[in-house]
Amino acid sequence: LLFEEDLISTDTAVLTDRRLRHLQQVRDIKLGDQISVGQVNGLLGEATITELAPDSAKLSISWSKQPPAPLPVTLIIALPRPKMVKRIIQTVTTMGVKQLYFINSYKVEKSFWQSPWLTEAKLLENVVLGLEQAMDTQLPTIHLRKRFKPFVEDELPEIAKDSLRLVAHPSNNQNCPIQVEQQTTLAIGPEGGFIPYEVEKLESCGFTPVSLGDRILRTETAVPVLLSKLF
Ligand code: SAM
Repeated sequence: LLFEEDLISTDTAVLTDRRLRHLQQVRDIKLGDQISVGQVNGLLGEATITELAPDSAKLSISWSKQPPAPLPVTLIIALPRPKMVKRIIQTVTTMGVKQLYFINSYKVEKSFWQSPWLTEAKLLENVVLGLEQAMDTQLPTIHLRKRFKPFVEDELPEIAKDSLRLVAHPSNNQNCPIQVEQQTTLAIGPEGGFIPYEVEKLESCGFTPVSLGDRILRTETAVPVLLSKLF
């Protein structure tokens, strides 16, 4: 995935440092090789390596294709354990989510908010890995919301406006509908689950609790299972 600073003209890019090392390690690139590229928030294309030095590679690019369509979903996840943040970001980005909210909830440990995975640089690093995996270029927006009640009362009604609203919550709830085709807002709880107060608050904001089956899934498993219903 190429950023504006990688491009020296509309169809020429120069890669250096970490980005060049990544290409060398992953692809073992040689002069004349062709690689698939994408421009952040732009088109996909094919690039030829026209110059290769130990510290830089020059690419000549032919832009050709639109990236895949985004998934029409806004995802709200109670902040998971820090070591899972990376995996969840890569998973949801690969699956095409463009609006992701990490929210606080009663059973989220306060210390999770100090996670190094939540820095802007780490979030971007994992977003890029997810996009590259899916041959996508559209950056998602990741929001961090540390206060549940004001988020649900003041912000969520606007965020979820005109969308189907589902909260994954294990119990005897109805099963999650398969192949939801409209714009959807999905909420997923923390490892300890949403407490009843939180489920009620979401319900009063128009969310329907849905089940993903009899098994209790870890948050990082529940996320792709729930998203797969929208494909
Ligand atoms: N003991 C917790 C509870 O009963 O809510 C389990 C939480 S689960 C490990 C983490 C989150 O994944 C849940 O809050 C929910 O959003 C989602 N989840 C996991 N399994 C689910 C299922 N079978 N049905 C619906 N949601 C599920």
